[in-house]
Amino acid sequence: MKPMAAISSQELVKGVFEGRISAIARMITRAESGDKDSEEALGQIYKASRNAHIVGITGVPGSGKSTLVAELCKTLRKGGRKIGVIAVDPTSPFSGGAILGDRIRMGELVGDEGVFIRSMATRGALGGLSRATLPAVDILDAAGYDMIIIETVGVGQDEVDVVRSAHTTVVVSAPGLGDDIQAIKAGILEIADIHVVSKCDRSDANKTISELKNMLAIGLGLSEPSAWTPSVIATSATKNEGIDTLAEAIDAHLDTLKKSGEWQTRRLAMAEMRLLKTAEDILRDQFERHRAGKVQALVKQLTDAEIEPHGAARKLLKDVWKEILQ
Ligand code: GDP
Repeated sequence: MKPMAAISSQELVKGVFEGRISAIARMITRAESGDKDSEEALGQIYKASRNAHIVGITGVPGSGKSTLVAELCKTLRKGGRKIGVIAVDPTSPFSGGAILGDRIRMGELVGDEGVFIRSMATRGALGGLSRATLPAVDILDAAGYDMIIIETVGVGQDEVDVVRSAHTTVVVSAPGLGDDIQAIKAGILEIADIHVVSKCDRSDANKTISELKNMLAIGLGLSEPSAWTPSVIATSATKNEGIDTLAEAIDAHLDTLKKSGEWQTRRLAMAEMRLLKTAEDILRDQFERHRAGKVQALVKQLTDAEIEPHGAARKLLKDVWKEILQ
């Protein structure tokens, strides 16, 4: 194998288009490194995306997401579809560790070329979706994967970002993690297209299911009528129950999106989020680059009240914008 540096971005792009696993893995690594050289290659890949079905799967840690995703992949593979999984794991600071973890969690999926699983640590203290998550989705899409699952841990903003980057969002709740439906606390109940109550082999699962249904019944009265009503699916990954039903519901949701015209609305919302997030990332990087210089000088003036906050911010933006557009 050629050392990584010896492979040009163009060769990698070609490899991605041919669906070669090694090229896909390397291209994702380049996307994670965030270097400017890969920008053009990632741009070509974005333009070549083929509209894979993007599915977000989210829920609190311990709710059984990764076990469920592995089972779901096995079920979906029976139909011959190629499945990509991007797992955003804020608890994993080392991507090397994540790759090792992927091999372990894939279990019997190891060796199946039709499934690609990659974990990513979140970058930066602010959390949220890793910056390379959406480029990685593009790479898998351009490589011919039919469905791409984004699995996220965490609460709040992460999940809201998932829904804005996915066509279909699955929220996983589990029995035994406390008295309440965890999704309510996390404020993510509303974002689900499909609800899963996992670990339904446990005796306390029925309580979780009825609590969730009650909560949804209240919410339903408040929401606008729409073509799709979120269902509640009970699954047991250990007993392989409900996984087929979940796979069918995911497909049915896509079908409804396309028939109702909501597909195009979602695609527009996804593109809007992509544009604004990318612009924010560029700005944040630029501020970071000037932290010791321009930023510090303005901070000093602001502390001494020689300048007011809006004026200082406008001056900073004016100073950095030319470099951004280079
Ligand atoms: P994640 O943190 O949401 O990805 O959750 P994991 O998939 O790592 O699962 C958390 C724990 O729940 C692990 O100990 C699993 O073995 C267990 N678990 C996952 N799925 C099931 C299930 O279907 N039934 C039962 N009883 N336990 C499960």
